[in-house]
Amino acid sequence: MERQMDEQEIIDSFDKAIQGNHLFACYQPQVNHTTGRMVGAEALMRWKNPEYGMQYPTTFIPVLEKNNLIYRADIHLFEAVCKFQKKCIDAKLPVVPISVNMSRYDIVGHDYVGDIEKIRKAYDVPVKYLRIEITESSAIAGIQRMQEVIAGLHSFGYIVEMDDFGSGYSSLNILKDLDVDIIKLDMQFLQGEVGGRGGIILNTIVQMAKWLGTPLIVEGVETMEQADYMKSIGCSYIQGYLYSKPLLEDAFQEKICKIEHEPLTPALKLIDTINAGAFWNPESMETLIFNNLVGAAALFTYTDDTLEVLRINKKYLREICMNHTEQEVITADPWRGFDETNRKIYEDAIRKAIASGEEESCETWRTIHSQCCGDDNICIRSTLRVIGTAENQYLVYAMVQNITAEKRAYMVMAESEQKFRFASEQANVYAWEYIISTRQMRPCYRCMRDLNLPPVVENYPEPAIEMGIFPPEVADDYREMMRKVDSGIPQIEAVFPLTACRVPFHVRYTTEFDENGRPLKAFGSATLVVDPSQKEAAGDTIK
Ligand code: C2E
Ligand code: CA
Ligand code: CA
Repeated sequence: MERQMDEQEIIDSFDKAIQGNHLFACYQPQVNHTTGRMVGAEALMRWKNPEYGMQYPTTFIPVLEKNNLIYRADIHLFEAVCKFQKKCIDAKLPVVPISVNMSRYDIVGHDYVGDIEKIRKAYDVPVKYLRIEITESSAIAGIQRMQEVIAGLHSFGYIVEMDDFGSGYSSLNILKDLDVDIIKLDMQFLQGEVGGRGGIILNTIVQMAKWLGTPLIVEGVETMEQADYMKSIGCSYIQGYLYSKPLLEDAFQEKICKIEHEPLTPALKLIDTINAGAFWNPESMETLIFNNLVGAAALFTYTDDTLEVLRINKKYLREICMNHTEQEVITADPWRGFDETNRKIYEDAIRKAIASGEEESCETWRTIHSQCCGDDNICIRSTLRVIGTAENQYLVYAMVQNITAEKRAYMVMAESEQKFRFASEQANVYAWEYIISTRQMRPCYRCMRDLNLPPVVENYPEPAIEMGIFPPEVADDYREMMRKVDSGIPQIEAVFPLTACRVPFHVRYTTEFDENGRPLKAFGSATLVVDPSQKEAAGDTIK
């Protein structure tokens, strides 16, 4: 007969359950969604009663807790996990760390740490293969007691996980006080909502966990959409039905032999002078400094070639983000707006900063998109410094400066310098600018003075022909030359006899193009031909 046992039946059959191993562990894998590899598993208590069949913890655990039996159950389960790990080690099978749940009642009136240590030693299981999950609700024993227990677990080398983070009210405060190594977040508390409010809460917790340098595992992930979403906000460690339901020991053992595993990435190690906790606290001096006293700044992690923005300050938003919010900047693809060349420049600077441990600067152009104003190209000078490392992951502090205006001014200057060069190459000349799209000609001062031209000549070259600067017999040749200029010939030159006196001049055009290769302007010049043999070439155009 398969049915849930009632309270009295649970109490009555408890001793037998322990002795007969009716209380045992199921194992639910934890997977890195990015690599598909297993990073660990959680042991979940099951009770298979010979008479009533499978019992689930949600019904029997509260009864055990109420009747002071949970401690024995938890210790029994810890032993079962040690036995399993020992079996795998001895059989030279792959071993992954397994998390064991600790009830809030386990730390009241019991030497939990001492007792599990005895068991672990007896089975000779390295401590790195065991993790302990505690919940916020353990705070009923007092924060100080929790701190003692965590310190005790740490002293033996256990990894401590904060289970069901975000389910209580005091979550944020509790993290400040408790030195946990891993945070577990339950998707079910947010009703699996990936967008909207739930999404914002998740995102904030993920960013905060990163900021604290604490790895995060999301539980209760049932759909690919949820897993992809979590990955997109920077949390790839996943436990849930999507990858696997809790498995019986044999099935789990088969699984660990079949799929690859990898260690959970250790938390980022911050350089000593930074107090990560305080930096996160909005009231702290560090935050005050980050937001007000330093210029525009951002923090990001860099792993292989992936970059994830963790935090930006208000000035950063003002300086380079147009009307985007911090949230939008953090969740957007950080390489959006970079072309390949600029991305390379930026990544080279990061690599240099990693290699040198010093500040490295670079200047990159990127396109910023704004809903109201469209795209804008901006140039950013970034000064980068690595402030934390963990294996191949780097925490980088970036100070940024929008130098677009400066850069543009420089480009204008460089452009006029170039014009000057064209002009001086053709020394002692009459020079002018011809704007292709409008067919306007702007003569130099000498042209205006000697040829009596206005500052802007419209519909060029017709007025110059009418005025007899180009005499009638060369008018068509000159029109032909101008057509070639209009059609975008880069350079063209020819000798023309000019004015009523038919004085031979070398007429040259050099065309300037925009970034799409369209002709913009041509710089024209006329130099007196000193070698009379060139006279014969009059009207011949040479490309
Ligand atoms: P928990 O520690 O938060 O464990 C996760 C629970 O979520 C497990 O329920 C697991 O089966 C379930 N779960 C896993 N993936 C999914 C999913 O994708 N969707 C949904 N909806 N649920 C998922 P379970 O095994 O029924 O355990 C319930 C709770 O009982 C546990 O919650 C834990 O608080 C407690 N518990 C389990 N084993 C032990 C134990 O050995 N000792 C103590 N003290 N408590 C335990
Ligand atoms: Ca748990
Ligand atoms: Ca949980």
